[in-house]
Amino acid sequence: MKFFVLTVTVLLMLSSVFIFTSCESVSAQENLHADYNITVDVDDAENKVSVSQTTRITNYSDSPVKNLVFAFYPDAFTLKNPLPVDPSMLSAAYPYGINAGGYVFYQANGNDVESATICKTPCKIEIELLSPLKNGDSTDINFDFDLTLPLNNARYGYNDFSINLTFFYPVLCRSVSDDVDPTRFVFYEYESTGDPFVFDCADYELTLNCPRDWAAICSAPEIKSQDGKTIFKADGLRDIALFMSPVAQISTITQNDYTVNVMHDGTREYAAGYALDALQIFSDAFCELPVKTYSLIFTPFMTSGAEFSNAAVICNSLSFTQTEKVVAHEVAHQWWYYLVGSDQVAAPWQDESLAQWSTLLYFDKKNMRPYADALRNQYHISYTDYVSSQRALGETASCDVFRATTDYRDYTDYYVTVYCKAAIAADIAAKSVTTDVFCKALSAYAKQYCLDFAETEDLFKSLDDSVKGLGGALKSSLSVSFY
Ligand SMILES: [Zn+2]
Repeated sequence: MKFFVLTVTVLLMLSSVFIFTSCESVSAQENLHADYNITVDVDDAENKVSVSQTTRITNYSDSPVKNLVFAFYPDAFTLKNPLPVDPSMLSAAYPYGINAGGYVFYQANGNDVESATICKTPCKIEIELLSPLKNGDSTDINFDFDLTLPLNNARYGYNDFSINLTFFYPVLCRSVSDDVDPTRFVFYEYESTGDPFVFDCADYELTLNCPRDWAAICSAPEIKSQDGKTIFKADGLRDIALFMSPVAQISTITQNDYTVNVMHDGTREYAAGYALDALQIFSDAFCELPVKTYSLIFTPFMTSGAEFSNAAVICNSLSFTQTEKVVAHEVAHQWWYYLVGSDQVAAPWQDESLAQWSTLLYFDKKNMRPYADALRNQYHISYTDYVSSQRALGETASCDVFRATTDYRDYTDYYVTVYCKAAIAADIAAKSVTTDVFCKALSAYAKQYCLDFAETEDLFKSLDDSVKGLGGALKSSLSVSFY
């Protein structure tokens, strides 16, 4: 096993090779396809960002499209709307005091644009076209805007360690066809619970202009660096995320096929080993990833971690054990979020239960079965403690898994249902066959919906297609209370 370490202090992320060979199917081009060209200028003030974005939209559907809908989540951090974090996490998210971010749009137009409505509905940009975009037609939508970042430990903002730019740009909403509307956009306002991001994969090129001595990581591989600018590019990303720091160092470690970058304060290089192990275990179990470079960003963070395409933010104050568990969970989201998209608002259990079960698989495969069993036990205890405490209060605690993030009473209800009960249900389904058979079924699911999108029934059907009754077993274990 080849294993070498290269530590780079305060350098821009090293380039990597983009190989696209792993998925059996690529995103079905039946809907609207977006191709983003984004330029990000960051000045020394650390909280001021200028963005120039052109998004080329191509209509691959049979239905002419007259309107476009984009989600623009910096609007959620202006404090004009409901707080972007759960009340129980306010002090973790805003340790420096609650403060508002802002934005100014200078341009929102295009040759075919009749009108643009910016955030009249929170976080929603509506574009009306002069004439319908027909099958095969493309149009460019231009956005020029400045961001004033909030000071926080959230996924969008800046703190004393890093600048976290995730979902900082207008993202074309996923379009679906149904009986009512041939082109309906799936738009969600920013939700403080869970991950409100439900988007199709798209192509991205991002040009970054930031101070030269800053460390920077982008979830798309770097393809060029010149004149103080760095260009990152990848096709078929679920999102593009950018992390910068005037004080961080980046460690880069390669093992077999995968390279892991760690942005950290000098104390977290070891975590690259966890990510490399997880990438290998899940690649062997499910399928190879299209991009072979993955990044971990250790920063003060309000929760234990958060996933993005080819990258995760990890809280920098976790113990070694917690760090390994969280890294394994976030790496699993490469398969259950990035490769296979699902509706994280309507069905948050779909990717989270598989990421939690994959974490158990990780520890099983690393010959740490007693720790995997301890995690299984923790899921059970968290779930049963919550249910019994609610019953003692005379409350019903249904822990119905099939709820949208908006339907949970509080974060604890969400946590025990999505991260514990749904994970136990996946484990029960796995045990109804064997771990290897369950992995093969998940592998078929990952390949079937690679860089595409799966509804909940698609997951059940895909499992049933692999092993008769397996999807039904998962559905029924999700549906019952174990306590
Ligand atoms: Zn997760």
